[in-house]
Parts: sequence; structure tokens; C-alpha cells
Amino acid sequence: MRNVPMLVNGEIKASETTQFIPVTNPANNEVIAQAPCITDSEMEAAIASAQAAFDTWKDVPVSERARVMMRYQALLKEHHDEIATILASETGKTFDDAKGDVWRGIEVVEQAMNAPALMMGETVENVARGIDTYSMTQPLGVCAGITPFNFPAMIPLWMFPLAIACGNTFVLKPSEQDPLTPMKLAELFLEAGAPAGVLNVVHGGKDQVTPLLTDPRIKAVSFVGSVPVGQHIYKTATANMKRAQCFAGAKNHSVIMPDANKEHVLNNLVGASVGAAGQRCMAISVAVFVGDSRSWIPELASRIAEVTPGVWDDKNAGFGPLISPQAKARVLSLIQQGKDEGAECLLDGSEFTVPGYESGNWVGPTVFSGVTPQMAIYQEEIFGPVLCCMQVETLEEALALVNANPYGNGTSIFTNSGAAARKYQRNVEVGQVGINVPIPVPMPFFSFTGWKNSFYGDLHAYGKQAIRFYTETKTITSRWLEDDIPSGPNLTISID
Ligand code: NAD
Repeated sequence: MRNVPMLVNGEIKASETTQFIPVTNPANNEVIAQAPCITDSEMEAAIASAQAAFDTWKDVPVSERARVMMRYQALLKEHHDEIATILASETGKTFDDAKGDVWRGIEVVEQAMNAPALMMGETVENVARGIDTYSMTQPLGVCAGITPFNFPAMIPLWMFPLAIACGNTFVLKPSEQDPLTPMKLAELFLEAGAPAGVLNVVHGGKDQVTPLLTDPRIKAVSFVGSVPVGQHIYKTATANMKRAQCFAGAKNHSVIMPDANKEHVLNNLVGASVGAAGQRCMAISVAVFVGDSRSWIPELASRIAEVTPGVWDDKNAGFGPLISPQAKARVLSLIQQGKDEGAECLLDGSEFTVPGYESGNWVGPTVFSGVTPQMAIYQEEIFGPVLCCMQVETLEEALALVNANPYGNGTSIFTNSGAAARKYQRNVEVGQVGINVPIPVPMPFFSFTGWKNSFYGDLHAYGKQAIRFYTETKTITSRWLEDDIPSGPNLTISID
């Protein structure tokens, strides 16, 4: 059995643990590797090596740190297909989708290449007579990242390249369900010239996360995953006086106005809802049809029915299996609840399978109509290829529905009316809004700005906000004496 190695102090090596978690191919549930639940002493070695590396890494000039990112970006591009193949083998994603997962991470590395410009402080000369004030950004120390299964390349790459480019060192605990991809990313990072200890990768589950939330050497924690775990991590990390940013679950609505371009709406909703088997935190899981646009629902369901799941290297596959039998069972149970609660199931993927891969975690595309806010399929994050269609009469009703939802990751509106789009973008209580764009994931020079229960913290992932998250600001007020030497002590607060 292939054991997933860890990366500690610049060495990629096997854990000495006796506890392992199987890593499976979701298309047939065959075990392809096993992830170690690393021992306490291995965790200690990882944190200690990150702490020791910080002493020297923080003094490496920022332009040299940026050059490591440049070499890393080139290596990731060179190995793009290889990483995507590993990623597809452990997530079940189609090859093209797996390549997209890697690519969105490469774009963040490109952002990290700009660290010298991004880390610049501010200066104001002569804030008082003879006095200048300027600020500078300095790294925090050791930072930690805990990542989910659904983007095993992109989400680790949201975290460690920017943190490390800022002069920090990092301990990453990737998802135990797909740790092979993050290990390939780590191997290439060493090849790019990262010194020992700057990046450490540890493995396991809940027990291996706890030290990352409590150890005083760790200064900041980045997390992406589900709501209950995100809340626990935010509370524990902040109670232990750490900076924390926790990205959590989602229920993303798309509002379809009757004046929208129908072809554009239907084409976009197909991929946005069932693409990646609905296992995207920005997937559209609720389509809100306003007024007469409700007549498009049957045609939308027929177009979604044309998408066929399949194995990763099947060129005709629209998406792959769910990550695990547990994830499949949960989605099937929610589909059943939707039927029991009276939603109309226009397309039912619960019996779907792929010939030759019957033991895989398959769920076919599924569409419900007549969904109401009380139903479990509306209230829960399904995280499967299931679209819930709802109907309202006005834009105001649509806004009220979306704003009453506890999540606030992403939303979109389809319309040809500038006034409707502006009203929506201004009043919707969601952090990322698309106008005739179904999944508005911002490019890395902006930040990934989920709201409400989709995010706990203040400063978001990547872009300028991430630079602030991974640095402290120091503000210096300086006076160089020329001829104006004060004649005696000043005992009052200066007023000019
Ligand atoms: P998860 O919460 O089960 O696991 C995420 C990470 O937390 C893993 O590394 C896991 O080992 C660890 N973990 C699990 N239970 C823990 C516990 N009790 N204590 C400490 N650590 C624990 O999430 P998942 O199933 O891997 O990922 C899917 C979820 O992630 C979905 O809810 C999805 O919406 C969310 N997600 C959100 C975003 C976003 O940007 N908002 C992006 C991607 C995924």
C-alpha cells in the first residue's frame, strides 16, 4: 500500500504512525493510498522546523522570495497535466476540470510573485514640523492552513504561496481525502528553491488540526471547509489569540429576470449547477425564476439531463463521482427528502451509475422545481449535482429570499436591465455578485469575499486582503534633528 509522505524540515518522508486513513478513487472506491494520522512528535517537528526557518526566511529579501514564486509558477505550469492527473485520480474530477483546479491556483502564485509591490507601506512627509511618518508590513511568523477536499490544488495555493512570499513560514494540513495533490505541490515547491522548514505538510484529521489551533508558535490560521468545522476552528484559533480566516459552506442563488437572454441563462446554469458534481463552494444550487422566466424551467431541466457523468479521462463526461460513499448517501437522502416534502423532481439522478464503475459514488444530475424555503433541500448545503428551482413574482421578492438565507458566498443575476442589476448588486447581502456571469469567483488581484455563514473573520483570501492577513503593519514616526533642538521638556500633547 502506498503511504502518503509528509514534508517536515525540507524532507519528504513517511510517518511512523500506525494510524492511517484510506485515500480512494471515487469512481470505484478502490483504495489508492493511505494518509497517515501523523504522531505528536512529528507534528512538533513540523511546527519547530517552521519556527526555526522563520528566523532566516523573514530576512531573505522580498525580491528573492518572489523569485522562488517565479520558479514555482514555471514548475507548476510544466507539471500542469501531471498534477491534474493525480488530482483526478483522487477526486474523480474530469481531466479538464482538474486542470482548471490547478490553473486557478497557479494564478494565485502569480499574485505572490508581486510580493514586493504588494507589501509596500505608506509614507507622509512632514506630518508635523520636521516629522515624517511611514508604515511597513512585516511577516507574522508561522502560519497554518487547513484545507477541504474539493479543490486540493487551488485552495492550498490560495494560502501558502502568499503567506510565504510575505516572509512567513507555513504548516499545511490538507484534506485527508485527497492528500496526494498537495504533496505534489509541496515537492515542486522544494524544487523551486524553498528552503527547509519554510513549508511543512502534515496529514490526518481532527486530532492533527488541534495543535495548529492551540500552539502558541502559530500566529495565523487559514481554513476552508464546512460550517460546523469552520465555526469550531474560528472560535478555537481566536480563543488561542490567533488571527483566523475561515471560509465555510454556501448556498448560492442565481436570479433570472424575465428580460434576460434565455440562451445565455440556460447555457450558463447547466455548468454552474451540476459542474464538478456540484462540489464547488460557488456552485449555483438555487435558481430563482422571476415572473414569466419560470416557463424556462422545463427546458433548463432537459439541457441539464444531457450532461452525463463519467470517469476522469472520458472526454464526454460532464462531471465525475462524488468524493465518498458518505457524501453520496447524504445527497441521496436529501433528494429523497425533497420528494417527500413535495418539491417536483423534474430530473432524478439518484439511480444513476456508470457501466463498469457500478461501485463508484455516482449521482446523476437532478433538478427540483417548486422548492420552498422551508424544505431541507433549500436549507441544507447539498454539495451534489442538484439544482433547486424557485419561483417569485418580483426582483424585490428575490432579493428578500436571497438576503434571508444564512449563507453569503456568491450569487448572480441574469438581466438586460442595468437598473435591475444595479439594484441587485447594491442590496444583496452576499459577498460576490455576478451580473450575467453565473459563478463570480474573483481573479486573485481581487479577494475572495464570502459573507455571513460562508466566512468567519475579517480579511479574506488572496489579493490585497491576504497580504494584510499575513502581515503586521508597523508605523514609524521619525524626526531627524537639524537646527531646531527643543529648549526644554514638552509636557503637553502637541496640537499642530
Ligand atoms: P470539512 O469541514 O469536512 O473538512 C475541511 C478540513 O477540516 C479537512 O482538512 C478536515 O480534515 C478538517 N476537519 C474536519 N473535521 C474537523 C474537526 N472536527 N476539527 C478540526 N478539523 C476538522 O470540509 P470538506 O468536506 O472537506 O469540504 C467541503 C466543504 O467546504 C463544503 O461545505 C464547502 O462549501 C466548503 N468550501 C468552502 C469554500 C469557500 O471558499 N467558502 C471553498 C471550498 C469548500
